[in-house]
Amino acid sequence: MRHTLLLLPTMAAALRKVLVTGANKGIGKRIATKLLTDVEDSFVYLGARDAGRGAAAVADILAEHPEAAGRLELLELDTESDASVKAAAEKVDSLWGLCNNAGVGFGRSIADTLSPNYYGSKRVCEAFLPKVESRICNIGSASAPNFVSGLGDASLKAFFTSSETSLEDLEKKLDEYSAAPDYEGVAYGLSKASLHVLTMQLQKAHPALHINTCSPGYVLTDLTAGMGASKTPEQSNCHVAPLHILFGDDVAHGWYYGSDAVRSPLDVYRGPGDPPYESDTW
Ligand code: NAP
Repeated sequence: MRHTLLLLPTMAAALRKVLVTGANKGIGKRIATKLLTDVEDSFVYLGARDAGRGAAAVADILAEHPEAAGRLELLELDTESDASVKAAAEKVDSLWGLCNNAGVGFGRSIADTLSPNYYGSKRVCEAFLPKVESRICNIGSASAPNFVSGLGDASLKAFFTSSETSLEDLEKKLDEYSAAPDYEGVAYGLSKASLHVLTMQLQKAHPALHINTCSPGYVLTDLTAGMGASKTPEQSNCHVAPLHILFGDDVAHGWYYGSDAVRSPLDVYRGPGDPPYESDTW
């Protein structure tokens, strides 16, 4: 494991608080659980848009890990709602880290995919950034480099991978994409490539923080059901890169990490165990 396991006494004042959005199931629930079991001084806000589903997940985790009692709290939060995100942010004083995990998968229109996967993450970042002390982990996907590598136009490839692409220009481009039906199934990869543009822009605006994107790997969840993924979140390494980004002691600024917590390129797929991507720039 590359993250730091601190063996500090568990004192409320010293706990490092992390919000994980969309943590009532799937990868988010696994990340929340591993944060509690592997980082002794962590406190997790389990984000869920449905209070009942969130409470059930909290109860599940505490039943399996009673030692986490007092370090886990439900935070009702719909990332697609301004009012919900604002209300949630008002309940939180400070965060060590934020993990933008909430998202949807394939088979939706471009607008319906961008809404949680890009705009929802952006909304949560904007609301919580003043409270974040150290880390932001955006849950991306290998679909992002796959989307970029499939773009025929070199200038479009540069657009989706450059730290010079402003969010204003990005969102104009997303409006153009959204005006067309998702004929080629690009919605999901587009949303995750856009998420990393957000990562880079936020990193530039907040250089003292560590703001990174990672892939959790290909994992069997409701999002991928029937698509060939074989390992459940519990069987997979989906938590490894997020825990590294949130608590590792050699975390970069503005990188895209593969699921093995190794730097990966933005324009071509790099598999776990492949050599790291080396570059002096983003
Ligand atoms: P999942 O099991 O379907 O879980 C998605 C979670 O996001 C659920 O908790 C869902 O809440 C929540 N969510 C969706 N829209 C939301 C909103 N507007 N507000 C708050 N929560 C919302 O999918 P998953 O596979 O764990 O996916 C988690 C993240 O990993 C996603 O960002 C996904 O793109 C990414 N990812 C997954 C894979 C994979 O192989 N599974 C690969 C790469 C990246 P409800 O239960 O209320 O719907």
